[in-house]
Amino acid sequence: MLSIVSFTLGSVMTNSYLVADSDSSEAVVIDPADKGRMIVGEAGKHGWHIGNIWLTHAHFDHIAGAGAVADHLNPPPQVALHPDDYPLWRMQGGAMLFGMRIDPGPEPTVDLKHGMAMHLGKYDFEVRHAPGHTRGHVIFYCADVGVAFCGDVIFQGSIGRTDLPGGDYDTLIQSIRTEILTLPDETRLLSGHGPETTVGQERLNNPFLS
Ligand SMILES: [Zn+2]
Ligand SMILES: [Zn+2]
Repeated sequence: MLSIVSFTLGSVMTNSYLVADSDSSEAVVIDPADKGRMIVGEAGKHGWHIGNIWLTHAHFDHIAGAGAVADHLNPPPQVALHPDDYPLWRMQGGAMLFGMRIDPGPEPTVDLKHGMAMHLGKYDFEVRHAPGHTRGHVIFYCADVGVAFCGDVIFQGSIGRTDLPGGDYDTLIQSIRTEILTLPDETRLLSGHGPETTVGQERLNNPFLS
């Protein structure tokens, strides 16, 4: 079974997801926003082993817990990020724009590319490049389970902001049309902020898509 534990963490209430194949006990953390030690502890309670961190994008509020996750794992996890967000990662995800400092953790070593498959136990996740909120934003889509981790591309009734460096409104809308609205209506969307929604619900109700 694919198990998903969600946490809302950090100064801007970012959703982090601990995702595991409960049969093989392999786990990943998607967007460790904060409280890395607590996330590792939660995995330990289930007997899961965190091998990887997958980042939807490199904004500080999605990576600020990565250092502490790595500090509490041996060997440290591999970090996966789209290369177009590496410059943002190197600037601590823009934390200084907000007067903050973060520990972004281990350097990303897995280059995410559009169309590549990421494996978690017996589950495959398709990487879909969806720029517009940041240049290197991706979503992780598991067709077997019908779930997409979509970061700050789309939220229930809203979309990601495009006023930060690297953001572009038209590009974001295009990404939503090609990478989100092409998924089956019943697909669960687990966003970077706010409650869970579905593709069908957003297709019907999202005011930015009408
Ligand atoms: Zn963001
Ligand atoms: Zn965010």
